[in-house]
Amino acid sequence: MSILVVGSVAFDSVETPFGKEDNILGGSATYFSTSASFFTDVNLVAVVGDDFPQEHVDFLASRNIDLRGLARINGNTFRWKGRYGYDLNEAQTLETHLNVFADFKPRIPEEYAATDYLFLANIDPDLQMEVLNQVPTPKVVACDTMNFWISSKPESLKRVLESVDIFIINEGEARQLSGEANLVKAARSILSMGVKTLIIKRGEYGVLMFSGFSIFAAPAYPLEEVFDPTGAGDTFAGGFMGYLANTGDSSEEGIRKAIIFGSVMASFNVEDFSLNRLKRLDYREIEGRYRGFKEMTHFLGLP
Ligand code: AMP
Repeated sequence: MSILVVGSVAFDSVETPFGKEDNILGGSATYFSTSASFFTDVNLVAVVGDDFPQEHVDFLASRNIDLRGLARINGNTFRWKGRYGYDLNEAQTLETHLNVFADFKPRIPEEYAATDYLFLANIDPDLQMEVLNQVPTPKVVACDTMNFWISSKPESLKRVLESVDIFIINEGEARQLSGEANLVKAARSILSMGVKTLIIKRGEYGVLMFSGFSIFAAPAYPLEEVFDPTGAGDTFAGGFMGYLANTGDSSEEGIRKAIIFGSVMASFNVEDFSLNRLKRLDYREIEGRYRGFKEMTHFLGLP
């Protein structure tokens, strides 16, 4: 089954201890849809300005991403500038320029409205709400956000969460949103906002999944070379949702496998700047690393 994603398509300027790149392709929806496209069909809803090069459009189209929902309007594309120190788990945002996103009203093409899998990537929660209102009966709604929106629009975000099945955020954001330092307490507080399953991303320490019934912990793949963590969260979400939509299996076991596929995709993404690693990735490598995860985490039960 296909996925509908709404989020940012961006130019990023990123500095890590290992290099610096300006105006490279980024954005939450870009990373998400590229990652998900390894598993299923993706319909993208976003906006870019007239400065967005055809080369990037061609790349997304080459991944079979349906771009009928990608609006192009006069003005500049969304821009984000961030920096990472040696602790690559936390980005420091230096600049956010909403540009064409400032007046964007997402219009979901009629062909997309009956979608079963909806991903609200990191974007203004008011826009996430407008999308929810245009997609009447999705089977699974997942959502991401970031500190920028938690501090600027907490009430809008909480309204969105009432309709969300799976909420995917990083650990700093879970603490910020809940006001709880302890992650288990933070998770309980966020689940009480209406979310059924919460996935907390912890960078190089992996992810924790909380649902009403259980907790699942997955490590991150131990890598020797981590170059640029930008987009790791969205790439995780793309692999996760892509696998769920591909199998249609939202059982506990299905969600656990999807979490590992998400972790596999994120582990590739951080090996290079922008989407460069995803551009040269093939499905056999994904399967190989999935098996690596299985071996790495296998242990016997008690007799
Ligand atoms: P992450 O997966 O969390 O590393 O997401 C990184 C991407 O989020 C970057 O490519 C940015 O372009 C995008 N981004 C950063 N800030 C925002 C924002 N306030 N709204 C939407 N997208 C953003």
